[in-house]
Amino acid sequence: MNRIAATLALLALLCPVHFLTAATTYIRQQKYTDAATVAARYRLRSTPSSGTLVMSDRTRQITFYPDKRDFRINNIKHHLSFPVAKQRGIYYISETDCQTILEPLLKPSALPRYRILNIVIDPGHGGHDNGAAGKKLREKDLTLQIARKVKQKLSAFGYRVSLTRDKDTYLTLPRRTEIARQRQADLFLSIHINAAANTTVSGIECFAITPAGAPSTGSQTVENRKYPGNTFGPNSLALADQIHRQLLSRTKAVDRGVKCARFQVLREINCPGSLIEVGFISNRQEEIRMGQADYQDKLARAICDAVVAYSKLPGRPQTTVRKTTTSQTGTGSSSAKTKPRTSYKYIKR
Ligand SMILES: [Zn+2]
Repeated sequence: MNRIAATLALLALLCPVHFLTAATTYIRQQKYTDAATVAARYRLRSTPSSGTLVMSDRTRQITFYPDKRDFRINNIKHHLSFPVAKQRGIYYISETDCQTILEPLLKPSALPRYRILNIVIDPGHGGHDNGAAGKKLREKDLTLQIARKVKQKLSAFGYRVSLTRDKDTYLTLPRRTEIARQRQADLFLSIHINAAANTTVSGIECFAITPAGAPSTGSQTVENRKYPGNTFGPNSLALADQIHRQLLSRTKAVDRGVKCARFQVLREINCPGSLIEVGFISNRQEEIRMGQADYQDKLARAICDAVVAYSKLPGRPQTTVRKTTTSQTGTGSSSAKTKPRTSYKYIKR
């Protein structure tokens, strides 16, 4: 062995991690990892071409586009925090996205598994705050009607379900998350209706909290602050993904994607949660549909099925009790009174 080879071998021995890990590079101050390495983490085959990067196995097909943040998992639209990069024919994905977006979606077995018993549903707006308005209907009425149906369906599965408001009253945003904390919510679902100046726009979007150190979907502004909701960020994204999938599959509505935002109701919750925009009231056809009881039933059934599907994801059981800001007295989580009738949904921490 000559001197150079010996030096290299010694270096490899001293710094094995550096020599054996992924090809990484820095692009616009973000650490990026090459696509082949990312695919290998999830046992996917990586197929780069000039216009797309496809990672796939027998059941999953993930499609990325160069310089784009939106991508598809089995044809469902998702969003990265940073654009996919392509340099000298090699695709790269930001390490922040690998850890905060891809990991929860592609490896649910690594998710922390929290108890799901108390579910708080938050019908958006109310009282003097009408929310968005269509030609005939108002957001605050539709969100309450849909929330009541979700409550009814989830209760039938044995969950303990409550609404932040069960009538046409005004609640501030901090009050909504305070209610969730007081009731020791294990899941928080905020229901809203979208609106746009362009009346042809329609479709569904489901939000999870933006990861710390990332920009929200549609924004470039990175925020490093970690909010209470960020503790449950990976679970919230997996939950939003399930809800989005179920809603699209039941309604065949336009797929506007699973998105990330720092909405107050997602920032300040102490459990996994999602904000769901079930349709555009500014689109006349969607407004009419959302006002119909059978369509509202479809939406509610989809959200209920998604919660059940989310509860069955193979996560890592948590051994520590989650901290809450309210008194722990009277939780009675082990009592027969509060135990759901169907036991598989009751997951011990
Ligand atoms: Zn709203």
